[in-house]
Order: sequence, then structure tokens, then C-alpha cells
Amino acid sequence: MRIAMVSEHASPLATLGGVDAGGQNVHVAALSTALARAGHEVDVYTRRDDPDLPECVELAAGVTVVHVAAGPARTIAKDELLPYMDAFGDVLADWWSTRATDVAHAHFWMSGLASLRAAALTGVPVAQTFHALGSVKRRHQGSSDTSPPGRVAAEASIGRRVDVVVATCSDEVTELVRLGVPAERIRVVPCGVDIERFRPGCGGVVEPPRRARYRLVCVGRLVERKGIETVLHALADLPDTELVVAGGPSADLLSADDEARRLLEVAKADGVDDRVHLVGRVDHDDLPALVGSADAVVATPWYEPFGIVPVEAAACGVPVVGSAVGGLVDTVQDGRTGLLVPPRDPAALASALRDLLGHPERRAVLGAAARRRAVARYGWDRIAAQTEVVYQAMVRGAVLTEAAAR
Ligand code: UDP
Repeated sequence: MRIAMVSEHASPLATLGGVDAGGQNVHVAALSTALARAGHEVDVYTRRDDPDLPECVELAAGVTVVHVAAGPARTIAKDELLPYMDAFGDVLADWWSTRATDVAHAHFWMSGLASLRAAALTGVPVAQTFHALGSVKRRHQGSSDTSPPGRVAAEASIGRRVDVVVATCSDEVTELVRLGVPAERIRVVPCGVDIERFRPGCGGVVEPPRRARYRLVCVGRLVERKGIETVLHALADLPDTELVVAGGPSADLLSADDEARRLLEVAKADGVDDRVHLVGRVDHDDLPALVGSADAVVATPWYEPFGIVPVEAAACGVPVVGSAVGGLVDTVQDGRTGLLVPPRDPAALASALRDLLGHPERRAVLGAAARRRAVARYGWDRIAAQTEVVYQAMVRGAVLTEAAAR
């Protein structure tokens, strides 16, 4: 098959950790590469945000990144890209008419708009993965949500117009059905993890060196909803424990980052700043060693569409203590591969962590079970195979009949 991955703001070539570069970039890169390994040709369409980028770049054998000229060729926040989606869709239509594309898979709602525009001109069937839903974001972020006003309605419309919505977790299915997306058009295929790169004992020199008896690690974009503040509050009740936070801009630019500054203020107010290390963005290749240096990875977002980091920790054999929201409800088995706590609840988090840190043998059992489950369910080749089944049903025009037969 020739597959078009459409990812308007999240390029698979981007550097990770910034405000708009995280799981979607990893997902698109890894899924595309795994599909190419399975013998498909994959074109990843992403917006040109730098005039010096070549039009096409080979990401891996069988995977071409196409830089689409739509809007100014400079970095633009993802929430401000909507005005350029018609132009993006027109460029897609040109490519799909000359490149005999079998299926398109749109990532994020704006890519869905562009893809549906191109599909109307070319007849290419479209799968949609939202990655995040405006309705959920609005519920949690209220007036600080910077999404364009029509987002929720647009997502409902996209969900009804595409051939299939590929949700990444069961919680998302509930949200989609609530939005009016027909359940028989929804399939669940989770995000994956590179189980070779993220593996137990990948060692290496880890910065910063450990300075306390126990180490917790958080990894993610430095945005408030990731809930790092909850971990800082919990740390006040966890003696002899340090916290390393990876994510945000590179270390030299952290002092100019509003969220980093805010977190350091919180840490000071809680009297834990001497045990907190904000290390900034960590190269994806260096993450397995950092994750592996942790006694537990903590992921306590307010909400989380999927959350690749908990699966990366699991693949490293490190137990996750996470909030019981979104994708974590599927990826962390409470009491088996990690522990789940309510979001924004520092006391519950401290209590779960105290228990885990005090019992090294339990940590080892949970970590080993986490690794087994990651290998059994979340390797990218497996995820690509599940995705391919969805694409094949789309090509046959059989999404609805196959749902009825299930
Ligand atoms: N990541 C990274 N370096 C950093 C911060 C994050 O490589 O400094 C990667 C992380 O390993 C994961 C992705 O960015 O693969 C974040 O994905 P996740 O789904 O956890 O969160 P999102 O960014 O989508 O909200």
C-alpha cells in the first residue's frame, strides 16, 4: 500500500520536548517506519516551517517526509494553523492524484480537515487519530485553552465524515461516542514503544548523577497539565528522594521558560528545590538510560490522551506511578505493572510512592511485569500490524460491515 500520514504540526523530524513536539511526533515517526518495514510505502506530510527545508526528506527506507507549503515557512503555534489547512489540503490533493495513494491517516484534528478536503477531490479513504480532543482539553483547561473556538464542533464533524477513527485508548472511545461519532466507525490501536531502544539495563552515563537514596523521573513537555506540580508537592513527604524532570527547552534556555520558572517557585515554596533537577529536553536516544536510572517513573497528568512515556518506562522495566486518567488506565495495570492514583492528589501520590520505594522487591516484580506487557502489546511492529488491518478494511470499503460482524 501507499500510505499518506498527515501530521500538519508534528514533524517526525522535529526535536522532541518543546511545547508542541511530543508524543504525536514520536507516534508518526515510529508508526511510519514500522509500516515501511512491513513493506509499505509511507509519505508523511507535514507543514514546512523553515524555508531551508528540502521539499522531500527520506526518514527511513520507504518513508518520505514531504514538507507542505501552507502558510508562512516559520514556526507557528499549532493552535494558530487553522487558516492554512485549506491550502494544506489542496497540496495533499495534488500529491495524492499523482502518487496513487491507497489510504490517508490524519493525526490531530487540523490534519483531518486538510485530509478530508483532499479526499473529496481524490477519493482516498481517511483514517483519523485525534491524539487529543478539544472537548477534554476544554473540560480541564477551561479559559486557558488556546484552541480555536470551533474545535469541538470540527472534531465531531471530522469523526462523522472520515472512514474510521483510530482511537488510542478505551477512554477516548467513550469521549468520541459522546461527541456523536458512530461506535462502529471506531477502532482502538494504542501507541507503541521501541522495545529495542527502551529495554531494562540500557545503562550508560546518566546526568545528573544520583544524589539521594531514591530517584523519581518525570518526562514530558513542560506544560501545566502534565501535573509535575503534584509530584513536587508529594516530594515534600518523601525523604531521601530526588526528582529529575526531563522536558521543555534545552537546559541553557530553561531559565527563560515560564513553566520551568513556575515549577521552581513551587519547589522552593514546598522546601524541596534542593532535591529537584530540571534538566530540560533530553535527546530521545539518551532517555532510556535516564528512565532506567529511576526507581519509579511518575506520570501524573490532569488528563492524558494516551501517554507514551508510561509505556517507555514499562519497556525499561521501571514501574510507573501514574494518574488514573486517559491512556494510563489501559497502559498501567494497577498493582501489577505500576500504581494508579487520582490526578492532582499529592497525598495519594506520596502514599503510593512511599510504599513502592520502601519495597525494592515489589518494584522489581512490577517492573518485570511491566516489561513483559510492553513487549507483548506495545512493540511498534505489532502496532503497525494492527493499524494495517484497519487500512485494509478501509481499502475494501468494509469498515462498517466488519464492525457489524465483530
Ligand atoms: N520526549 C523526549 N525528550 C524529552 C521529553 C519528551 O524524547 O525531553 C519524548 C518522550 O520520550 C515521548 C514523547 O516525547 O516519546 C512524549 O510523548 P507523550 O505521549 O508521553 O506526551 P505528549 O507530548 O504527547 O503529551
